[in-house]
Amino acid sequence: MRPTVAIVGRPNVGKSTLFNRLVGKRLALVDDTPGVTRDRRMGDARLGDLEFAIVDTAGLEEAEADSLSARMRAQTEEAIRSADVVLFLTDSRVGLTPLDHHFAELVRRSGRPVILVANKSEGRVGGAGAYEAYELGFGDPVPLSAEHGEGLSDLYDALMPYC
Ligand code: GDP
Ligand code: MG
Repeated sequence: MRPTVAIVGRPNVGKSTLFNRLVGKRLALVDDTPGVTRDRRMGDARLGDLEFAIVDTAGLEEAEADSLSARMRAQTEEAIRSADVVLFLTDSRVGLTPLDHHFAELVRRSGRPVILVANKSEGRVGGAGAYEAYELGFGDPVPLSAEHGEGLSDLYDALMPYC
């Protein structure tokens, strides 16, 4: 059966950009404003000969009391629950932030299998930030550039066991 893959990570790491690349249509809203994706979006994704359902999630914000953030958090948790595997994205240019660890804990608690993706790893600048992602304890990061389409063959290799 076709697996469901959820893209999870803090706002602005490039989740919607990756979603759009894998779905091949501009279905998800990409914006520089963190957390602009308010709702989960599902699409039919294809990577080489792999086919899977993919879920783009909103970011989980730190302001716990805010009702919208609570809703966004609930949607992220639901996406994780429904996923066969989670693509956990980090931003190699910015490096890890406390919010990355917050999200990682949420995914860790779910017990779902995780593929760690160090996004924004195009060119040389990605190297150090990608290495830093090891700290999350999700194994080897897959260096990727969702925007430039680099690293997709490594992502293919990581996803293949689930498809
Ligand atoms: P989301 O909040 O996690 O959904 O992030 P978005 O997909 O909306 O992207 C946030 C910003 O990061 C946008 O300005 C994207 O163009 C940019 N971005 C996404 N992927 C990459 C990448 O691989 N490299 C670089 N340099 N920027 C990227
Ligand atoms: Mg988004």
